[in-house]
Amino acid sequence: MTRLFGCVCGQFHSPGAGLGMAAERVAVPVPFYVIEHPEGVALFDAGLHDDMQDADDPYRQRLREGGMDVSLTADETLGRHLERLEIDAAKVRYVVLSHLHFDHSGGLGSLPNATVVVQAKEWAAGADEETSRRYFLPKRFFDLGHQLRLVDGEHDLFGDGSVTCIPSHGHTPGHQSLRVRSEQGDHILVGDACYTAESAVSRNFPAYADHAAMNRSLDALMAMRGPQTVMIYGHDPDQWGERALLPSARG
Ligand SMILES: [Zn+2]
Repeated sequence: MTRLFGCVCGQFHSPGAGLGMAAERVAVPVPFYVIEHPEGVALFDAGLHDDMQDADDPYRQRLREGGMDVSLTADETLGRHLERLEIDAAKVRYVVLSHLHFDHSGGLGSLPNATVVVQAKEWAAGADEETSRRYFLPKRFFDLGHQLRLVDGEHDLFGDGSVTCIPSHGHTPGHQSLRVRSEQGDHILVGDACYTAESAVSRNFPAYADHAAMNRSLDALMAMRGPQTVMIYGHDPDQWGERALLPSARG
């Protein structure tokens, strides 16, 4: 049986407007997901790099210059979450990346043997200097020499329909979401195709993104829902902590 866990790997701090939220300043969770499948462990996204614990890290300094920041404690790193789940990081088979932003690809360095599963369009965007600058895709976090599986459109990861990549471009050129059918139910892990349940309604998207593409992608994701489908948004504070929709530990 397939099992799905949700983990919070630190917080992203930003003016609310940058995330389409009304509050002047917000701190939102940086989640990643662990999928235990009979044929191996897959992650969806990889959270923040361990170095983000250090306030003097050059990337954090750059974020602060732009009015943003992150926070990460030793207890919230990707490695600590995997330890708690009794998963050997060296044995993680796949990391499906929603996109190449630093708060989704950061933990890749802790997963040396994983195959990175990413949309070919996204990888090409990260490799192109102008596009990567426009969409903030810093090579430092993702270009580490992992084995790659570049996919084009929908992709059935294990070939049994349990874990399916769904293209949801717009936030970045090759953004993808993930549908997971597990013991925990039917989930669409939306990623940053939409930050919060609220912006799924308001359609308040980040300024730099392709809004027409985001609207089309989100419409398509919404249309895939069945009566039991649970949508988990990219950075929604109301879907974590006490209101968490997914287990974060074995129970
Ligand atoms: Zn994000």
